[in-house]
Amino acid sequence: MENKLQARSGASRVLVIFGPPGSGKGTQAKLLRDLLKIPHISTGDMLRAHISQGDGLGVDAGSWMRSGRLVPDATVDRLVEERLALPDCAAGAILDGYPRTVDQARSLWAVLQRSGMSQLVIHLKVDYNKVIVRIAGRRQCPQCGLLYNLVANPPKEAGICDRDGQALAIRDDDRESVVRERLETYERQTRPVLEFLTASGWNICEVEGDDASPSEILVRIQDCMVSQ
Ligand SMILES: [Zn+2]
Repeated sequence: MENKLQARSGASRVLVIFGPPGSGKGTQAKLLRDLLKIPHISTGDMLRAHISQGDGLGVDAGSWMRSGRLVPDATVDRLVEERLALPDCAAGAILDGYPRTVDQARSLWAVLQRSGMSQLVIHLKVDYNKVIVRIAGRRQCPQCGLLYNLVANPPKEAGICDRDGQALAIRDDDRESVVRERLETYERQTRPVLEFLTASGWNICEVEGDDASPSEILVRIQDCMVSQ
């Protein structure tokens, strides 16, 4: 299967991974990077790198992000276009966190047409109720950082860290209200992008992402990619 996929990606294909918080999107992006030997491009990581370098783009992006707003499309578009032009993307790349708006999707479309790269969208579908239950069941030890899950991986004694006896806590990001808000934001911002790409004739792999292990989900993605 690996050879077949590599032969297909020999034509230089950009994979765009979509998935809500809790879908394992980042995990699948890394597994695909290792399998296909093409770069995993995370716009969030790239922006953070520019910000820590303190270059022009970083200063600009940092001021937008600190004020709680999204970095303008034109800035992110340019970042991605320049990144895709680097030699290590000759065989393709995996985009994670981009395009996030319909305007960004239009820009990517134009870049791919100019460069002759083809594209495939991988949409990891999850049941939001399952995601909420799973994330809301996470607990962490404030002392040693060990993570637990009340359902999948509970501590031996309820509410207490196995390792050092500390009382377990819920991380702010894992609170149910926060998780619901992130899912709603995803639904509001990303759903229209997926609809736009579908209407524009992009190939899309719809993959169930919440009822199997990461390696099993990777197999589903590969099966779909081969058929595209
Ligand atoms: Zn502990």
